[in-house]
Amino acid sequence: MPDADTFTEPAEPVTGWGRTAPTVARVLRPRSYEEAAEAVRACGARGGIARGLGRAYGDAAQNAGGDVLDMTALARIRSIDAEAGVVVCDAGVSLHRLMEVLLPLGWFVPVTPGTRYVTVGGAIGADIHGKNHHVSGSFGRHVRAFDLLTADGTIRTVVPGTDLFDATTGGMGLTGVILSATVQLLPVETSLMSVDTERAADLDDLMARLTANDHGYRYSVAWIDLLARGAATGRAVLTRGDHAPYDALPRRARRDPLAFRPGRLPAAPALLPEGLLSRATVGLFNELWYRKAPRHRTGELQRLSAFFHPLDGVPHWNRVYGRGGFVQYQFVVGYGREDTLRRIVRRIARRGCPSFLAVLKRFGEGDPGWLSFPMPGWTLALDIPAGLSGLGAFLDELDEEVAGAGGRVYLAKDSRLRPDALRAMYPRLPDFLALRAELDPRAVFTSDLSRRLSL
Ligand SMILES: Cc1cc2nc3c(=O)[nH]c(=O)nc-3n(C[C@H](O)[C@H](O)[C@H](O)COP(=O)(O)OP(=O)(O)OC[C@H]3O[C@@H](n4cnc5c(N)ncnc54)[C@H](O)[C@@H]3O)c2cc1C
Repeated sequence: MPDADTFTEPAEPVTGWGRTAPTVARVLRPRSYEEAAEAVRACGARGGIARGLGRAYGDAAQNAGGDVLDMTALARIRSIDAEAGVVVCDAGVSLHRLMEVLLPLGWFVPVTPGTRYVTVGGAIGADIHGKNHHVSGSFGRHVRAFDLLTADGTIRTVVPGTDLFDATTGGMGLTGVILSATVQLLPVETSLMSVDTERAADLDDLMARLTANDHGYRYSVAWIDLLARGAATGRAVLTRGDHAPYDALPRRARRDPLAFRPGRLPAAPALLPEGLLSRATVGLFNELWYRKAPRHRTGELQRLSAFFHPLDGVPHWNRVYGRGGFVQYQFVVGYGREDTLRRIVRRIARRGCPSFLAVLKRFGEGDPGWLSFPMPGWTLALDIPAGLSGLGAFLDELDEEVAGAGGRVYLAKDSRLRPDALRAMYPRLPDFLALRAELDPRAVFTSDLSRRLSL
């Protein structure tokens, strides 16, 4: 049984990583599966939602005036099969922790996003993708089973190929609370990456390079300069690579080939002077970033952290956008809809959105999750300060372009999509809603995102 303190916490501020919709909620921190079940049973009229490390940018892991189940105290690694590369762990374990424990054993997480400070529960809830989506699919494809606490307080073991599995991978916590998961890992010989870098002069050049030989790399992503205009529109720096084999390591690194040593810089300042992230300053940053990248370099050895998670080296970097926070806009449009991508990139460039974190990537096959984001096509993600004037109307227009091309916006990044746009983007939404109505008729699992999108 939980101790009395578990359910008497006062309301606390809760926000997503983009800090755009701060709110308050009662935050419960279950330390056992029993406490989690008790917390779900005790949810008030405004329901509750599971939360991991709060790296979703928008309002997916918050619940204004209701309960939030912070799952990070449930963080045990329960077993590791070092022969087969299978880990069983609580949902609150972070990918960072898994890397610390598993890399020395020669195993890596099958999919990692641009930060390793996400939990396994959050990785399944958003069915996250990484730079290897074109080869490996999303996180859910590597999950062999998970235990799900549903609204009736029961715990069900859920396996791939079932409706409940497909509704939960990408279901944004709305089918229940994932308590633990069994995940298949990727074998690696070293903790270094072998990376090729090249510059692309414009968007067409970039798409041609990605199309020509992305399949030759396990990981691939392009940083794109969305402020460049005219002939340089869409110029980019493309980085692709794979885990370095032992033989590629210099003698010094062979002594400890699987060492995991992420670097850390000082925390970002709480608030930068207003206006620092203007079109001019970000334009200058982008210019320098583009010019400093090698035109063409192959086989550079990089730490995992530098290749996958450069921003994790700067704690609280999300504060640089100032008080208003920032919106991350990520969409995908299918292959054959390159004209839509070109049009959107041109519109963003003309609009002068001061975005220095913009990446373009090719997705592989779509994933089985009913609300999973990836589908075969081009995905573009960019950060935009929330205070930019006219931003809401501008992004609504982009939503229309995306939906019109059969594409979709990523819910783990979203804080502003409208319900009608969601319906147009996710064809399996009716199945999701039907399953949710049956599984959780009182909508115990509710978030600000689910209220906003009528999910
Ligand atoms: C710098 C940065 C880079 C990123 N890069 C990528 C990327 O490359 N690819 C990508 O796909 N995403 C990316 N993301 C988004 C991030 O991977 C997802 O939002 C992820 O879900 C965050 O995990 P979390 O543990 O912080 O979960 P939270 O943000 O706390 O929650 C996210 C969702 O998962 C649900 N959830 C959390 N725990 C559980 C649980 N135990 N049971 C059921 N549901 C649960 C929540 O209800 C919520 O709907 C990035 C985020 C940041 C900040």
